[in-house]
Amino acid sequence: MALEIYNSYSRRKEVFEPINPPYVGMYVCGPTVSGESHLGHARPYITFDIVYRYLLHLGYKVRYVRNITDAGHFEEEGREAEDKISKKALLEKLEPMELVQKYTNLFHWAFRKFNTLDPTIEPTATGHIVEQIAMIEDLIAKGYAYEVNGSVYFDVEKYAKGYDYGKLSGRIIEDLLETTRILESQDEKRNKADFALWKAAPPKHIMRWKSPWGDGFPGWHIECSAMATKYLGSYFDIHGGGMDLMFPHHESEIAQSTICNAHPPVKYWMHNNMITINGKKMGKSYNNVITLTELFSGAHPLLVKAFSPMTIRFFILQTHYRSGLDFSNDALLASEKGLRRLFDAYEILKALPFIEGVEASDKELDNRINTQLDELPKYIEDDFNTAKVLAGLFEIVPTINSIKDKVIASDSLSSATINRMKQDFHVFIEEILGLKNEWAVESPFKEVMNLLASIRKDARSKRDFHTSDKIRDELAKVGIEMKDDKDGGVSWNLQ
Ligand code: ZN
Repeated sequence: MALEIYNSYSRRKEVFEPINPPYVGMYVCGPTVSGESHLGHARPYITFDIVYRYLLHLGYKVRYVRNITDAGHFEEEGREAEDKISKKALLEKLEPMELVQKYTNLFHWAFRKFNTLDPTIEPTATGHIVEQIAMIEDLIAKGYAYEVNGSVYFDVEKYAKGYDYGKLSGRIIEDLLETTRILESQDEKRNKADFALWKAAPPKHIMRWKSPWGDGFPGWHIECSAMATKYLGSYFDIHGGGMDLMFPHHESEIAQSTICNAHPPVKYWMHNNMITINGKKMGKSYNNVITLTELFSGAHPLLVKAFSPMTIRFFILQTHYRSGLDFSNDALLASEKGLRRLFDAYEILKALPFIEGVEASDKELDNRINTQLDELPKYIEDDFNTAKVLAGLFEIVPTINSIKDKVIASDSLSSATINRMKQDFHVFIEEILGLKNEWAVESPFKEVMNLLASIRKDARSKRDFHTSDKIRDELAKVGIEMKDDKDGGVSWNLQ
């Protein structure tokens, strides 16, 4: 078995072979902290959290760099976009760095709730202006960038003559020229397709730095190239991001780094597909942008209720990262149920007593469970197919429930198989998929509840229905259900 990754650069699955094992360098384009993260942002960071977790599970030493975009000149679909940070800072009456800190904190808070592991380095664009200027100087010296009126542009046409511009995104220069709008600064550029490496700051622009070309601020693409090169070197293993970043962002990163380092920067390019909402692209114009705090609280007209971070994580992992994913209340409600079902079974499994040396009384079932467990690593090694891993775990859930309900005897499976199930469920659910049991009950509370359940059981056996009913009815009022099992036992459930 070997890990296979779909490489967007070669457009095929490739066996993962790190450049310098056991080290793996991974760069993921981080958030632009000019506003709150929304549902669309949850997908890339959860997707690459799985990649990171699995590489760690395989024993690699991963340097995971995920930047914070807190400055810069942006482009959208090849056209220039406004400086979102300065604009928002004026709007919220905050110092730009205050605004950036506020949304960085909010981003960290939300993604810790999603149980994503922190990157090992989280560099900020504003902290790496020096490196960006050095790279731009290098591009000018090599003849692939030019200065006009204090701004510096990358010469795409010249680059395209000698290199494969558009290889990653499949876009061609003519295509790009057509989609580029005529804007003010177009007059400065030699060609419409050229992109900004540095922009001269107009007098009122708040975020500005000194440079050899005068006061200004960096282009968006150069940030990632400079920070990735600084921390991962000129050739590193994995670069990830959403499919929407392929062009022009990643295509431009490749062009810049290829000129500076004399070779393309990345071995495996990985891109996750996008999230749509009720079949529509997410966007301000559709009025369907749901922020993460709105999702967690339910405070959005499109939401029927609040959805927990783990429900959203589970919902995202139920689809392979390269497939489209449509958000709807129904889909999330189904995910919530599914996640609960998985964790209920996992808790039952964990509570099964450890008995050594039991031979399976049902060999056929025992073999089938082992075959199903064998499939789990194959699914994740197949380009991180979390959807199949979850489906594989769910195939085993009915057997666990049948053991609990005593529909099948507890010795149907060998003790070795039961232990393997416990181990594999732990590894896949918690370590690799990073799912947590949000219904998990703290231990002292659990003890008290078990005590009440046993008092109710005793009361019932003594026909003291006053006591047994009181326990049941009073607990029901606070959302705890007492259940009388077939064998005379009493169990309880948080609703
Ligand atoms: Zn980037």
